[in-house]
Amino acid sequence: MSTIETLRKQESKQLMSDARRLETVAKHLRQQANFSLTKKQSTRLIKCVCPECGYTARITHIWLDTGNVTCPCGHELKAQQ
Ligand SMILES: [Zn+2]
Repeated sequence: MSTIETLRKQESKQLMSDARRLETVAKHLRQQANFSLTKKQSTRLIKCVCPECGYTARITHIWLDTGNVTCPCGHELKAQQ
């Protein structure tokens, strides 16, 4: 095998591993993009209504999970999807 042939083979091997590395990076970026999309959805406001007086408020999941979300008349608000 000539030196040039050997060099070409090494080069194509290098390119293959570069491509594989880029694929891994792309996969990572896709996952991160998906993650931030999911994150955005979880910060969506949830409509909460008092079953007694109809008082309505829109709050995030975080505060809904914290609990004790009540209307001015003291009833617990019910989340609506
Ligand atoms: Zn109420």
